[in-house]
Amino acid sequence: MKDYSKDGCAVIPIIVPEKHLKTINFFLVKHENGLSLIDAGLDDELNWHTFLNQIKEYSLRLEDITEIILTHHHIDHVGLVNKITSRHPVPVFASPLSIPRLKRDPSFMENRVRFYEKLYREMGCGKLGEKQINYLRTSIKKNQHQALQTEIKEIQSNELLHYKVISIPGHAPDHIAFWDEKRNWLFSGDLLLEHISSNAFIEPDENGKRLYSLIQQRESLMKCLSLNADIVFSGHGSIIEHPNELITKRLERIDDKAQRFLRLIKNGITTVNDLAEAYYKTTYYEQFPLVVSEVVSHLDYLEINRKVNKDLLNGVWHYSAND
Ligand SMILES: [Zn+2]
Repeated sequence: MKDYSKDGCAVIPIIVPEKHLKTINFFLVKHENGLSLIDAGLDDELNWHTFLNQIKEYSLRLEDITEIILTHHHIDHVGLVNKITSRHPVPVFASPLSIPRLKRDPSFMENRVRFYEKLYREMGCGKLGEKQINYLRTSIKKNQHQALQTEIKEIQSNELLHYKVISIPGHAPDHIAFWDEKRNWLFSGDLLLEHISSNAFIEPDENGKRLYSLIQQRESLMKCLSLNADIVFSGHGSIIEHPNELITKRLERIDDKAQRFLRLIKNGITTVNDLAEAYYKTTYYEQFPLVVSEVVSHLDYLEINRKVNKDLLNGVWHYSAND
């Protein structure tokens, strides 16, 4: 494995193979005051053993870890936190916005389901939407064990250890990145992936209002571009060196895709449900929540840029081009 060490700091990547995302990546960072774990993989045997083997390989022990820091709340980034902290209690740092999500706070989770219930209804998703809502309701109960058991420390300042903490919402509302200015290294979770564009998931804010996640994602990518990082330690796929060309490509792709939705609207397809079906075909049925999220986030982007308008007809939003 490539050696990532510079100015008294060494990154030890933990790379776990994964079917859809190529790999799940998380990182041990040896620094002058200890050993951090940035993100914590998925909760399964393969992640756990890959992690333990890597620790051994570098002649380290689980007990050497001094803190865990989390980029965002998704299960493939926080999976091993309970296993690690039950054996070796270390502080876990996360964005304040991660806490209700990581703790799976019941009222937060219920409000989130109600948000999607209204969204799918108003986007004309019919039975598919209802099915997804039933699935979400059952998942709340079924996945309660995924709640992090340990106390989580809120990252309140824009500095943590030797990092600048940068807010990069879009893929997830609570997403943060850790910027090592001295070494030009960025730990940015799922903001930028080498082999696929990261999805900007539709999510409610704390008051149940829809976040403009794709607009946030664009702004976060632009923040990342302005850092001029040498290395982006990303959450899946290859570690990215000199990322700026890729970031520019991702930004362009957002506009391309939005244009394609705009063309469909100009051809007379007016609801999210019908746009999703026309654009994604069978993938719409296979990956319903993801696809709806993609369409809605791009339409929000078009609407903010005054390219489309929407009207509520019989409880369903209909989009029209603005020219
Ligand atoms: Zn994620």
